[in-house]
Amino acid sequence: MWDPETDVFVCKCGLEVKPDEAIEGTTGLLKPLHNQVELESLQATEIAKLVGADEGVRADWIARHFARGYPADGDIEEVILDFLYFSHRNDGCTATFECPECGRLALLHDVNEDWRFYKPESA
Ligand SMILES: [Zn+2]
Repeated sequence: MWDPETDVFVCKCGLEVKPDEAIEGTTGLLKPLHNQVELESLQATEIAKLVGADEGVRADWIARHFARGYPADGDIEEVILDFLYFSHRNDGCTATFECPECGRLALLHDVNEDWRFYKPESA
């Protein structure tokens, strides 16, 4: 569970993980599949409008998707990467932690609830 007082995540086995000491590959997000399919469809539709667009269409597209001041003449690959990053949504996602010590999987569906821990079955 996460302790808001100390900002430390503590596994049921006792392993403590501070936010700035997170162990690579132990944390993640679970996304409902229907959310991901809907998002990818939206992204594909919007990117298709951008690819091959003339200068005016491209400027309008950038104005719709980014804050004022975002360069309208930037590299298209950078524009697409920024769009993919900023259109990513975590709504309805579940935070995950897989403990490197005991193998437990912890899930957090809602920040107002406690983490739920699942212990792996032994082989
Ligand atoms: Zn553990």
